[in-house]
Amino acid sequence: MKCKICKKEASVKLKHYNLPLCEEHFYEFFEKRVRKAIGKFKMFSKEDKILVAVSGGKDSMVIWYVLKKLGYKAEGLFIRLGNGVMIDRTQEIIENFAESIEGKLIVEDATKYLYGLSTFEAARILRRSTCSFCGMVKRYLMNKVAVEMGYDVLVTGHNLDDEASQLLGNILHWQKGYILRSWPVLEKTHEKFVKKVKPLVLNYEDDIRLYAEMKKIPFLRETCPFSIGATSKIYKKMLLTLEEEQRGAILSFYMGYVREKDKFFKEDEEPVEIKSCEVCGYPTTSNVCYFCRSRQKLKVKLEKRQKAEG
Ligand SMILES: [Zn+2]
Ligand SMILES: [Zn+2]
Repeated sequence: MKCKICKKEASVKLKHYNLPLCEEHFYEFFEKRVRKAIGKFKMFSKEDKILVAVSGGKDSMVIWYVLKKLGYKAEGLFIRLGNGVMIDRTQEIIENFAESIEGKLIVEDATKYLYGLSTFEAARILRRSTCSFCGMVKRYLMNKVAVEMGYDVLVTGHNLDDEASQLLGNILHWQKGYILRSWPVLEKTHEKFVKKVKPLVLNYEDDIRLYAEMKKIPFLRETCPFSIGATSKIYKKMLLTLEEEQRGAILSFYMGYVREKDKFFKEDEEPVEIKSCEVCGYPTTSNVCYFCRSRQKLKVKLEKRQKAEG
């Protein structure tokens, strides 16, 4: 098997493209797709101050590495969602990695906003689904840190498989609002809302894993034990089954959306008014944001509990 580009012995065969490549040309191919996403969707420039949300999973570690390699000013943010050995271990892996790429890492502790509780415990007390509550807390804190520390843009590690499966889920339920918003760039719409981008949107998850393994980038296989039954995984599985039969189906499904979005999905409703939360000042569509409302409710529940315990 020869590299399609230089005809040297290939070290990988990218199954989604049926493309054999040597190590050097695989890296080039992979990074070119990242550059393409950054350019095509006008994500950021070399002057921008970029904050990468790093969870310890392969996607966020890889995108941080690639952005640094391509010469972007990219720093990392790790949000501690609880306490315990697993989280300490994750933080340690990220800290060591940050050091190895000479990247600055910011660590934010979510538990200090949740009266010392982890997002999992807080979700249980509030009777909310762990995944959606945890996601809300993460999004809120990522945005808050980026705004407070003066970053121009926040990067997340969402990949092609993630975006395509989310899009499929939204189409299956014809959630027009969500369909319109499933774009790799969310522009700044409020003074306390940082622009959000997904530069791995054109890279298959398998290729990201391969890139991490070949570059020996450390990562955790499963960063969240609660995501196992998530519905998004069902759509991902469906798309991968389709991809087995039709090579490139996921990419062509997603690129079709990118190409045709304006034709099929027009914003015809009045956009919802974005207000500033009366408590924290961050953007919300109600008077008090969901994050602050959750904190208020949590406080009441914890006080009740304390009383009951005497
Ligand atoms: Zn080659
Ligand atoms: Zn608020």
